[in-house]
Amino acid sequence: MGLQDAYLSLGSNLGDRQANLRSALNALNRERVHVAASSSVYETEPQGLPDQPWFLNIVVRTRAEFSPVQLLRIIQRIERQLGREHPRRRVPQGPRLIDIDILLFGSTIVRKPTLTLPHPRMANRRFVLEPLLELDADAADPATGARFDLLLSGLQDQQVRRIGGPLTLE
Ligand code: AMP
Repeated sequence: MGLQDAYLSLGSNLGDRQANLRSALNALNRERVHVAASSSVYETEPQGLPDQPWFLNIVVRTRAEFSPVQLLRIIQRIERQLGREHPRRRVPQGPRLIDIDILLFGSTIVRKPTLTLPHPRMANRRFVLEPLLELDADAADPATGARFDLLLSGLQDQQVRRIGGPLTLE
């Protein structure tokens, strides 16, 4: 498989949120998932389970010579290394030190029990679409062709504020 642009969403709402995001970016680079570009940092309202701290979220564009499933294994390993609890012990949609999702993997469409691409909930999440569009203003859903900027315009009730520029890596 050749080099593909994969977009990842990263979020944290526990501890030093910015340090957690930076640790995840460093871990991705160490695993040879090269971070080619990062969005600004956004502070975002929790979705689903409201009674928890606000998140910091970013989206990054990566280049990796991996399959989508290999990339999923790498991000799950990084989540565990950074102290995230096992999925079975976690509150669904609850607080987390780090959450990494694969949003897009080139224009690949995957429908497996463990991996869905494009990410099934990305089109409903302002905290994903706003930083994604910063990196690619013309991004569109490869499954439906829908432009994400049009999808974003229906999500203005979710609170998202840009609080700083892209994170710098060590
Ligand atoms: P979460 O707790 O939100 O990080 O969800 C993790 C679960 O979602 C894992 O069991 C993954 O197998 C599954 N999953 C399905 N599609 C994706 C995707 N595009 N990116 C990350 N996790 C995914």
